[in-house]
Amino acid sequence: MAALSKDDMSNIKTLNFDAVIVGGGGSGMRASLQLARAGLKVAVLTKVFPTRSHTVAAQGGIGASLGNMDEDNWHYHFYDTVKGGDWLGDEDAIEFMTREAPKMVYELEHMGMPFDRNADGTIYQRPFGGHSSNYGEKAVPRACAAADRTGHALLHTLYQKNLEMGTQFFVEWIALDLIRDDDGEVLGVTAIDQETGTVGVFQAKATLFATGGAGRIYAASTNAYINTGDGLGMAARAGIPLQDMEFWQFHPTGVAGAGVLLTEGCRGEGAVLRNKNGEPFMERYAPTLKDLAPRDFVSRSMDQEIKEGRGCGPRGDYVLLDMTHLGKERIMKRLPSVFEIGKKFANVDCTKEPIPVVPTIHYQMGGIPTNIHGQVVVPKDGEPNVVVKGLYAIGECSCVSVHGANRLGTNSLLDLIVFGKAAGDHITETVRNSSSDYKPLPSHVLQRSMGRINKLQESTQGENAQDVADAIRAVMQTHAGVFRTQALMDEGVQQIMALEPRVKNIHLADKSQVFNTARIEALEVENLFEVAKATIVSAAARKECRGAHTVVDYEYPADHPTMANGRNDEEWRKHTLWYSVDNRLEYKPVRTKPLTVDPVPPKPRTF
Ligand SMILES: Cc1cc2nc3c(=O)[nH]c(=O)nc-3n(C[C@H](O)[C@H](O)[C@H](O)COP(=O)(O)OP(=O)(O)OC[C@H]3O[C@@H](n4cnc5c(N)ncnc54)[C@H](O)[C@@H]3O)c2cc1C
Repeated sequence: MAALSKDDMSNIKTLNFDAVIVGGGGSGMRASLQLARAGLKVAVLTKVFPTRSHTVAAQGGIGASLGNMDEDNWHYHFYDTVKGGDWLGDEDAIEFMTREAPKMVYELEHMGMPFDRNADGTIYQRPFGGHSSNYGEKAVPRACAAADRTGHALLHTLYQKNLEMGTQFFVEWIALDLIRDDDGEVLGVTAIDQETGTVGVFQAKATLFATGGAGRIYAASTNAYINTGDGLGMAARAGIPLQDMEFWQFHPTGVAGAGVLLTEGCRGEGAVLRNKNGEPFMERYAPTLKDLAPRDFVSRSMDQEIKEGRGCGPRGDYVLLDMTHLGKERIMKRLPSVFEIGKKFANVDCTKEPIPVVPTIHYQMGGIPTNIHGQVVVPKDGEPNVVVKGLYAIGECSCVSVHGANRLGTNSLLDLIVFGKAAGDHITETVRNSSSDYKPLPSHVLQRSMGRINKLQESTQGENAQDVADAIRAVMQTHAGVFRTQALMDEGVQQIMALEPRVKNIHLADKSQVFNTARIEALEVENLFEVAKATIVSAAARKECRGAHTVVDYEYPADHPTMANGRNDEEWRKHTLWYSVDNRLEYKPVRTKPLTVDPVPPKPRTF
């Protein structure tokens, strides 16, 4: 295809909707359901068939204080989430999410989601990392589970409900860029149809990003290949800052060498981590919660064991997840996928032998900044949280921020549902109160996207997109890991920035229109690059240890006067905002006032 002429441009398809949602995962489909139920005209764009979104891979469960198996209430869930996030989470949002949780889970149950059951018919719940009762006293079963296929059950339930309500899906339509007019208002997105190469304009009164995580900026990841941070890239290119991107979660139990996840539900069911001496070493690091301490804590402990020479295998570079004592019957009933993954990816029968595991990148705590209605907020005229008209973000691509510096397992599926519904409700009200006319599109509506596409179409030489993507991943893996040093991060900034000419010089050899996946991959690299820059620049600037951001240079003992355990609340209890232009950083306060209860005062984090 040659570059588009003016005539071609006039043929470009423009479709309009009350709301356009980019992303058909758990968050996108919960929001679209709310909108379709309200009778709005809603489109969902998705790179893959909706039920193949990464939410389908969620295994362990969705958190809610139902108290079906032990005493529990939302106050405990609220406390655990604030503490788990190392006091970086916004407490109004955390309160909203943990209070809504039981209602949201029952709603899923009533939609037909096939949860596992207790003998009395109530929803089965298993313990999960960092979830406790009575403010940290003991682990509590809070993860509502459908075996170890909870995300699968959730996503299929939502898809069926959306079909019933008439949501329009645009499958394999890849959103390219946000449309923002000169007032900064968002009027929709541009997108390309993978099947035909057609470019389209999706005009909307409300545009909602639900594009999921960007775990593919790392070389070893539990994430799907499609998790390239497109929503974050689109936001960054449109001048919207990304929040708290230095905080990336390593899941303790990725299969060593393969990256595939083994759910924390294994440890919830009673599995333990062992070092080469067979010692269940978490007892030393977290005497109360042991293997069920939060993920940042367990990942660091595993790394420490490996560093101190107690790792397993010929190179001593992994530890073992032992569930042999659980018995075959329980494993096959509660963890059937784990059994399969053990066989296929580690060649281990986990009913008889432990599985080799290492901490593996899993989840981004940061994202596009929002309030509890899912509205995107940015600093303006001295105000930290001013709404960007027309734009919403939910799910893993957003930062509301309920997970702070470290997410507790099961709280992501929960945030998808809670904020998916909340955003749906807010959009419904806004659209109903707005004029029936669409705001005119700016004349430059396609400029950015066509510029990107045409550059690739016209390229005659340069690098293969995958080689450039691999180079980004290699830097991130080395320079933004479980343990960071200031020198490593500073060097990482230099190395990532040095990749810019290579990102700009990608060559697309295949110029065909029909199902050209190479073109999509090349476009994705630009998004990976934005996310990688945001991560490494934000990380190098944060001079403390908090949650998943552990910098060896700032590791201080628990009795240090201002930086107990390396955390510096006085200077650093604040959110990072990274802007793509000039890699500029700004900071804004954490919202420390919950809606109806007392805040949780910061204290050292022990488990
Ligand atoms: C292996 C694994 C297991 C997990 N287990 C749990 C668990 O047990 N409990 C828990 O709480 N959390 C779990 N998590 C985390 C949780 O599953 C995710 O954070 C969550 O599912 C993300 O949902 P989402 O709706 O934000 O995005 P996703 O489900 O990732 O969906 C993103 C959607 O955006 C679309 N999209 C992206 N870019 C574009 C574009 N440019 N154009 C069009 N469409 C686009 C994709 O096609 C997709 O439909 C797990 C994560 C992983 C990786």
